[in-house]
Amino acid sequence: MNSIRMHELKILPEFFVPVWNGTKTFELRDDDRDFNVGDWLDLNEWTEDGGYTGRHVKVRVVYKLPSGRAMGLLPDGVCALGISNPCPRRLCPYCGYPLCGSVSMPDGICYKCGRDWKEGME
Ligand SMILES: [Zn+2]
Repeated sequence: MNSIRMHELKILPEFFVPVWNGTKTFELRDDDRDFNVGDWLDLNEWTEDGGYTGRHVKVRVVYKLPSGRAMGLLPDGVCALGISNPCPRRLCPYCGYPLCGSVSMPDGICYKCGRDWKEGME
């Protein structure tokens, strides 16, 4: 058996948000890191202009479809991973931005739109 590993990866904001809130349950990735079911992905939000944003989400690999088993639908070297977010986080009720607890929302003010997200939750 392989031992369980944590893979550190980049992810663009447009994909980070749905993984964060638990709606995006798959990843297509270059299969160059020996991903295995049971491993964890630490997905670090990243933009081409600004680099790492500091937000990240840890998800579990629950399924792996290698390119060779996808009837030619995946390019060589690409795999499809089923992922599970064990702790989906909520989004700002006003602007949809991920609520990041202690880091960016210490006082309940949304980092993105500046509104009090605690009020919007009630
Ligand atoms: Zn907001």
